Amino acid sequence: MEISLQNQVAVVTGASSGIGSGIAKSLAAAGATVVVNHSSERSLGEAQAILKEITDAGGNGITYQCDVSKEDQVIKMFQDTVSQFGTVDILINNAGIQKDAKFTDMTLDQWNAVIGVNLTGQFLCAREAIKEFLRRGIDTSRSIACGKIIHISSVHEIIPWAGHANYAASKGAIRMLMQTLAQEYGADKIRVNSICPGAIQTPINKDAWSTPQALNSLLNLIPYNRIGQPQDIGNLAAFLASDLADYITGTSIFVDGAMTTFESFSTGG
Ligand code: NAP
Repeated sequence: MEISLQNQVAVVTGASSGIGSGIAKSLAAAGATVVVNHSSERSLGEAQAILKEITDAGGNGITYQCDVSKEDQVIKMFQDTVSQFGTVDILINNAGIQKDAKFTDMTLDQWNAVIGVNLTGQFLCAREAIKEFLRRGIDTSRSIACGKIIHISSVHEIIPWAGHANYAASKGAIRMLMQTLAQEYGADKIRVNSICPGAIQTPINKDAWSTPQALNSLLNLIPYNRIGQPQDIGNLAAFLASDLADYITGTSIFVDGAMTTFESFSTGG
């Protein structure tokens, strides 16, 4: 059994770093042409390095700068992708940020920034992707489905997180966005799912793994006793985007080393 995304075009938001870069490489290895999205001029070098890894391995793609929280930029990213590659088959809604603060100290700017990227960004990209899926219609030379969306959510779509109310609220909302889209567009053969990572070793959570003490206390939350890697998420994303997962839609899949079994209850609570 082989995961194939041959002839398909994937937009991966926030693919210049961490989980997004792992997903971009996995989709490209399965044959997809990948749009490696990043938000700023500052991260162009990182995005180009990811694209080089993809092309050196025989894959295909482009880098594309777009701030997913900005409607005009998202519309243009999808228009440019369709002009260059003909359509979009797969959206990986991955771009995300944290702006942490104790709730009573949280500024409106911190709240809006996180909701703007993590939730509004996923709304804008999903809307443009679905419009393009519906315009193209089903083409079985590409996929049985009309299109696939994978939201990158978090274990914090179900685990409350003190000091991170904006982030947890954005991820909880993604669950309802994902399920509503799966329901609304199921008859059009558009599949929509979420991947909920646990602790994955990326720059977003460097403080949690960059010293032995921090890593030890993080591992206390993870029964499987290791931190996750971007590839762990990339492997599932490639499968979920493929026709092998054709009956999977409207669900959240946790990739978390059993973090959501609540390790603190492992000795009986
Ligand atoms: P990361 O290494 O910090 O990467 C974040 C990516 O998002 C970067 O490529 C960044 O690009 C991009 N980005 C940020 N703001 C953007 C914007 N406005 N428009 C477009 N791209 C933007 O973080 P990560 O850990 O890989 O996180 C990726 C996703 O996984 C996030 O949604 C995060 O919530 C989720 N997640 C992560 C973990 C974990 O343990 N790491 C766990 C659960 C969920 P620029 O540098 O160009 O801004």
